[in-house]
Amino acid sequence: MKAQTTTATPSTASPETIAFRAALDVVGAALPEVADSIRQELADQRSHLKLIASENFASPAVLLAMGNWLSDKYAEGSPGHRFYAGCDNVDAIESRAVELAKSLFGAQHAYVQAHSGIDANLVAFWAVLTHRVEAPELERLNAKDVRDLSAEDWELLRRKLGSQKMMGMALDAGGHLTHGFRPNVSGKLFEYASYTVDPQTNLLDYDQVRKRAREERPLLLIAGYSSYPRKINFRIFREIADEVGATFMVDMAHFAGLVAGKVYTGDFDPVRHAHIVTTTTHKTLRGPRGGMVLCDADLADTVDRGCPLVLGGPLPHVIAAKAVALHEASQPEFATYARRIVENAAALAEALLSQDVTVVTGGSENHIVLVDVRPFGLTGRQAETALRSAGVTLNRNVIPYDTNGSWYTSGLRIGTPAVTTLGMGAAEMREIAAIIASVLRATAPTKTASGKPSLANYTLEDSARAQAEGRARDLLGRFPLYPEIEL
Ligand code: PLP
Repeated sequence: MKAQTTTATPSTASPETIAFRAALDVVGAALPEVADSIRQELADQRSHLKLIASENFASPAVLLAMGNWLSDKYAEGSPGHRFYAGCDNVDAIESRAVELAKSLFGAQHAYVQAHSGIDANLVAFWAVLTHRVEAPELERLNAKDVRDLSAEDWELLRRKLGSQKMMGMALDAGGHLTHGFRPNVSGKLFEYASYTVDPQTNLLDYDQVRKRAREERPLLLIAGYSSYPRKINFRIFREIADEVGATFMVDMAHFAGLVAGKVYTGDFDPVRHAHIVTTTTHKTLRGPRGGMVLCDADLADTVDRGCPLVLGGPLPHVIAAKAVALHEASQPEFATYARRIVENAAALAEALLSQDVTVVTGGSENHIVLVDVRPFGLTGRQAETALRSAGVTLNRNVIPYDTNGSWYTSGLRIGTPAVTTLGMGAAEMREIAAIIASVLRATAPTKTASGKPSLANYTLEDSARAQAEGRARDLLGRFPLYPEIEL
């Protein structure tokens, strides 16, 4: 089918403009509405302040590495050891990504095939289970063909694998669904125990973690979070894990970029202290959507069998983009970027406090600022929707000991990775805090039929909305997204 070009591309256009225009013309010739939605998504991201803590803006090189024929290749196995023919180029790409990941994070082993953060965690869980659980019995069963397993063998497998305990951070304290919570398979696979934050300070109390670990004696101790706004001392966690005989896993999905950029070193470097580390590649690390596992050499063989154990065939096009992103994250500019993410979050927290907004834990030591919106009489859902209507994209989030549940919530999670990629600094964080505070002040819940404040509906004064939207647009006008791309 012949591609439909919407506008002529000037001869002075940047390579990125030429590439994305041509790509969208080709997509548009096949299915115009998909190309339109892709164009509109760029317009949306350009016209709203992106403050979602788990999102970022990947480089054009990362994005373009995914849009090609590598996607057509099956490559089960690992470099040099594939179950499919014709994997030479995938081998070269995957080997490079693994080498880059190992050197960037100082890891003994890296597995770059996980399709997402959840998948990386599943690979890690199975690796730990098969390594730790009654190894001799499992080895005997593993050596058998699955068709030869007797009813007693199955019973033994289920009993051994299904009766293990994991301990992670409570969901409302900042933990993630995959750390043992019922809606995720981890909560069905493992018995679950949690540690939480101090009810007064909302900070992790390591003595409490130690006490809980001694009581529960989990097989797997997990540190890592989706919404905890502080750094974590992984040296102490490892001591606790060693004391109770647990394998120590860190899910650094959110803060991998801060580890890569050497903001988190020494006691705060998870790779140095954990037996196994999982991550996403698309949040602070600023790569393609995907996952990764880093581990000690003794877990490497099991981790490398992630596919077909729990994963489908690798995504070679995404692995190519991971290699590009890992190379980018190895450059000195990335260390500056990572430092600025954290400086910006601290500046944003301080500016919000000066606007009388309640900041959970009173500050931030990473890329997240967690806000309690109850003093405004709002739920997180109302605050999120009101802000989005005023040009600010962020997400509602539970706060510690939240009584509003995970749908309505009492908080907002605000992240600085994306606006830092745009080049914003402390002055812009003060402006963002002023925009957010002005919208929260001008938003009020409506009443339900029974006269109670609604958890979802609200009113926002028109003038406040228009003013906030104008301020957000001004900021974005000064820090444009992908200025090199003209669609
Ligand atoms: N782990 C943590 C700590 C996360 O915050 C997330 C995503 O929000 C994940 C895992 C899952 O990542 P993905 O959405 O790529 O599966």
